[in-house]
Amino acid sequence: MERRKFIGSTLAGSTILGGALGLTGTKTAKAKQSNHMILTDDPIIERDVPGKPHEGKVLAAIQPHADDIPIFAGGLVAKLIKEGYTGYLINTTNDDHAGPGSVGETCLANERDWDEVVKALGLKKVFNLGYRNHRMEDIDIIEMKARLIFLIRTLKVDTVIGYDPWGLYEENPDHYVTAQAVEAACWMAGGGKDYPEHFRAGLQPHSVREKYYHARGPQIINCIVDISSVIDKKIESNIANKAQGPAGNNGVNLRERLKKENKKLPVFGNDDHTANFQYIKQFLLEDEKELGKQFGFEYAEAFHYIGPRDKLRSYTPTMDDYIKNSAVPLR
Ligand SMILES: [Zn+2]
Repeated sequence: MERRKFIGSTLAGSTILGGALGLTGTKTAKAKQSNHMILTDDPIIERDVPGKPHEGKVLAAIQPHADDIPIFAGGLVAKLIKEGYTGYLINTTNDDHAGPGSVGETCLANERDWDEVVKALGLKKVFNLGYRNHRMEDIDIIEMKARLIFLIRTLKVDTVIGYDPWGLYEENPDHYVTAQAVEAACWMAGGGKDYPEHFRAGLQPHSVREKYYHARGPQIINCIVDISSVIDKKIESNIANKAQGPAGNNGVNLRERLKKENKKLPVFGNDDHTANFQYIKQFLLEDEKELGKQFGFEYAEAFHYIGPRDKLRSYTPTMDDYIKNSAVPLR
């Protein structure tokens, strides 16, 4: 759960494109390039959108561990749910190596946390694939892809959010194995010859159209998402991760420490939840604040986006365009 850092100083111009779904059209933003973030010249900027433009669409937030999505994409998930998506969480490991107590107790603690993350982000349900934590190189990736393809077809997933399979210097095999399986499953789920027994059971081919990838190391970023309006939900999803999340009980601990010094931070309030909430808000969102500041938002998250809007940005004329513009009537 080591967080991305924005520490470079080279400035790169960025064009912000116009259109629906929160894209705007001025060329004003400047963004830092750093050794952890390689920003394309024309990132998609996703602003807050009123109403429910995504009504009827389905997303799957896919993570190896309970804290991955809350840390890197809790804001994006909450925003898309607010804008009409129905969402599911898929946890690929049993999280048995990160948390309190014995291995069994760690599993149970994380299992409870997944349910709380689901509630905090407004998702419908968690699916647990249950592979052993830190041992995912050992699994049969074909089996995992087949399970993901089944879920993509069953849930009719339009959009996935997860680790970038091309993120650099990722040291945790759970992250890169999951990312590779997800990437392949997204397009294979649309094939008519992959796992045909699914069709006999009533499913149909269904490919994922949009992907938002996050990484904790260097990554090519082409999408900046304004998460200011849902920042409280992102914080709640991190509080939900009691077993291994970044917040722990730090707010309460800090309040108690200050009490011994006869001091208090008024914003920390009088109850434990407020103290832990404010600890995250005040001290653990520096990356989101720093990125947001560069684009004129209070808080932002960064992704590599693959989907129709990415194609739209690099649109090249098709044969149909050529015919439309060049064909003349037969005489
Ligand atoms: Zn992780």
